[in-house]
Amino acid sequence: MQAIDSKPQFGHVSLVGAGPGDPELLTLKAIRLIQAAEVVFVDDLVGPAVLAYVRDSARIISVGKRGGCRSTSQSFIERAMVQAARAGQRVVRLKGGDPFVFGRGGEEVDALRRHGIDCDVTPGITAGMAAMASLKTPLTQRGVSQGVVFLTGHNQVGAHAVDWPAMGALVAQQHLTLIIYMAMRNIDAIAEGLLNSLPPATPVAVVQHASCDKQRHLACDLVSVARKVRIQGMASPSVWIVGDVTRGLQAIAQGPVTHELVSATSPDQRAA
Ligand code: SAH
Repeated sequence: MQAIDSKPQFGHVSLVGAGPGDPELLTLKAIRLIQAAEVVFVDDLVGPAVLAYVRDSARIISVGKRGGCRSTSQSFIERAMVQAARAGQRVVRLKGGDPFVFGRGGEEVDALRRHGIDCDVTPGITAGMAAMASLKTPLTQRGVSQGVVFLTGHNQVGAHAVDWPAMGALVAQQHLTLIIYMAMRNIDAIAEGLLNSLPPATPVAVVQHASCDKQRHLACDLVSVARKVRIQGMASPSVWIVGDVTRGLQAIAQGPVTHELVSATSPDQRAA
């Protein structure tokens, strides 16, 4: 194991949220840091339109997984960032969406800190928020949804496995919106789990490539979502949104986001 320095050393890394894909959703701060960077470590969900802001002389190091290959190990990324920062280079770690939403940003901040490297974090627009904005659908709405849960659908085990029936019960009792990332490999298990505690007619939206030109979405009910995702050939990167805020979307079913949204139902309508 590499030695850990406790004293602050020379070097700095900026963790920067690249947003969901549309470069116009980058913050001004993100653009400034990207343009100033000499080395940029990039995840595979960061699109070319965002990378266009990297200056020609900078080194771009891709550290995401591609085409089913194994992802670059987290320890390799951390070591390489530490090395570049210690060499005095202006280092940007560019991550899709927000660095602290399923982005392992916390682990990287800890690793940099352990090696005495200073860092700052620039938030980005997370995929779930971009997906909802594109559908003109709120994450929360008075009388419909009083909170949002961002969840991973990635199959985790043990204490960190998501208890889908319990999560569904919470959504129903507390009137929450559920936004599920990395759900596509476990669509059946997630839908079945939620159906233990949510009615089959619970509205769901699935949004692929949110904010990008190739964005598409599907709106249906919970009982048919896994089948419809398969029929439509929807794949990663996609987010699922479960909850009453998406009810109006069922009227427009599926397709590009060019339709007018039927507004979400009121609590009175829901009770009916
Ligand atoms: N930090 C990122 C999430 C990284 S985890 C963020 O804040 O958005 C990777 C998962 O994010 C994907 O499997 C997918 O579920 C979701 N995702 C990322 N970009 C997306 C996009 N443009 N459209 C839909 N889902 C996206």
